[in-house]
Amino acid sequence: MRTCAAAVVVLGPHAAGEDVLRDVDLMFFTIDVSRGSHAARQCILGALGRAAARGQRSRNACKITRMKRAVAAVAVVVCSVALVAQERDRARVPEQYKWNLADIYPTDAAWRAAKDKLAADLPQMKQFAGTLASSATALADALDREYALDKELSKLYVYASLLADQDTRDSQHEGMRQEMTQLAASFGAQTSFIEPELLRAGKATLERFVASEPRLKIYAFYLDDVARRAAHTLTADEEKILADAGPMASAPANAFTILSNADFPYPTVTLSDGKAVKIDQAAFGDLRALPNRADREKVMAAFFTALGAFRRTYGTTMNGEVQKVAFFAKARHYGSSLEASLDAANIPVSVYTRLVDGVNRNLPAFHRYLRLRKRILGLDELHYYDLYAPLVGSVKLEYTPEEAQRIVLDAVAPLGQEYQATIRRAFKERWIDLLPNEGKRTGAYSNGGAYDVHPYMLINFMGKYADVSTVAHELGHTMQSYFSNKAQPYPLAGYPIFVAEVASTFNESLLIDSVLKTIKDDDTRLALLGNYLENIKGTMFRQTQFAEFELRMHEMAAKGQPITGDALAKLYLDITKKYYGDAQGICKVDDYIAHEWSYIPHFYRDFYVFQYATSFMASEALAAKVKAGDQGARDRYLRFLSAGGSKYPIDLLRDAGVDMTTDEPLDLTIKTMNRVMDEMETILAKRPATGR
Ligand SMILES: [Zn+2]
Repeated sequence: MRTCAAAVVVLGPHAAGEDVLRDVDLMFFTIDVSRGSHAARQCILGALGRAAARGQRSRNACKITRMKRAVAAVAVVVCSVALVAQERDRARVPEQYKWNLADIYPTDAAWRAAKDKLAADLPQMKQFAGTLASSATALADALDREYALDKELSKLYVYASLLADQDTRDSQHEGMRQEMTQLAASFGAQTSFIEPELLRAGKATLERFVASEPRLKIYAFYLDDVARRAAHTLTADEEKILADAGPMASAPANAFTILSNADFPYPTVTLSDGKAVKIDQAAFGDLRALPNRADREKVMAAFFTALGAFRRTYGTTMNGEVQKVAFFAKARHYGSSLEASLDAANIPVSVYTRLVDGVNRNLPAFHRYLRLRKRILGLDELHYYDLYAPLVGSVKLEYTPEEAQRIVLDAVAPLGQEYQATIRRAFKERWIDLLPNEGKRTGAYSNGGAYDVHPYMLINFMGKYADVSTVAHELGHTMQSYFSNKAQPYPLAGYPIFVAEVASTFNESLLIDSVLKTIKDDDTRLALLGNYLENIKGTMFRQTQFAEFELRMHEMAAKGQPITGDALAKLYLDITKKYYGDAQGICKVDDYIAHEWSYIPHFYRDFYVFQYATSFMASEALAAKVKAGDQGARDRYLRFLSAGGSKYPIDLLRDAGVDMTTDEPLDLTIKTMNRVMDEMETILAKRPATGR
């Protein structure tokens, strides 16, 4: 998969799998979302704007360097679809389905000239070192210069990166991308003095400067965010010690990654067709969904049992990570690891705990889903290894690119004419690289990093319903980037990660509603609804289950309880049994499931997965209001799409019409879920008792 913008991001060796986080590291945030059993699709959110990078990354492990921030300004969203054969010659793909990168730079030579100029300009930043606190004018001069360079850097990066992605075999273009990574690193080094100087200047001085210098107005939010963190910033000497601890602090995650990706002896099993398959991380995602029940049971048992044999090692790496997070939280005077992590994006702890409590309260809805799955699969007893078997047949709908465009345009009609007109432009003016070709990067993403140009989208359209949904999804990101870039000055345009998947899933929600209105065939309806339901399951319930496990694990450490492989296995099994209603006979959670936690890389990115659930809920809640025809709700949502990163994420969403500090978003999502299940049960009721 997938790198996002910067080259610091490494293309991982794995194929898609719901839980497998790539080596997207440093500044990139990743979100992957299960999209149902037919094709686990994931999303990697590249860092979206500097506010995002700054806000979302845990500052405990290491401070965001300028490099990360600079490259993070390249907004990238990647959603990777299951790998597809790509055999087409790019030269033979019609122009109208290829993006037009000439909107960024007319030629590679023009890019080269701009890059050389930027490289020559970067050292200018040094002249501002030591001046920031001297006057409001000096501060404005420095920030204006820095952001101007940053904007150019992003634009250069986007061009090189998109070019490299359209044919990954082209080493010249890949070389251009690597040049940009190096340049970004150099920019990072040259501007690393800024935040420490701002922190030393202090909140009062910064506020006085903002009040007296109109040019600082667009930096007021950024300066406030820096000042907000002052209470958790230490003396220069102490900060240096923490920074020097960085390489040590990454050891647990590195050991985990090497063990999982390189050294682990993944088991091989023989399937019912006589074929022997090795169950590594990449293969597991598909193998656990095998339609043959005995096969998938064998796969799951073999995989988790093999992990369990290494529970002492996995427990040790996990303990190292948990202790690391606790160490930095304590060093920075936070009350808990959770508080420290969420403070990076200024998200209240209650948003996290409310999610966990709320989902627990709504487990009956989840159990209804599990009973429905059991009924559709025609089983006497549902087991954990039945959870990924295809629920219903795949949606047998085929679309041309033109039909996809029309269907998406129809679906987003509730968002008004400007929204639709902009989508028309995206197709007509070639913002989209739509069709697969040989060498093209797999998956899909939207990149809004060329601030004064327009967003670009990479898609591998194969004509299935899922592809149309991907188009709607990526257009959601694109519209948010487009409207935010248009409405906000560059320093405020990048939207934070916490809100980034809202616009995309919002569009998917509109799409399915719109498509269902035109489809009368029960099988197709059932498949579409089933898909949607799987999405809710994978995003809401499974990710919250992970979030709860993570929370309890860190709490155990805070109480001084040992974090061992055995302790974690017990914790994981208990939580999983609760979620899946094992005691009530709803779904049997076999004992080897206790080791599932150990292969999930997200736990090395502290308190991260809950955002899958929160952004899904936010989008469901907002979509429910807009679909109900509430004009005010629509206008608020459109303003949100233009708001970029001008506020903290919780405030952005509150303005949009959903308060993440209340139960409303979850309640609305559960309501939608129940409605979907009502309809599925109505369809099933018309059929013979087996449900098949
Ligand atoms: Zn996405």
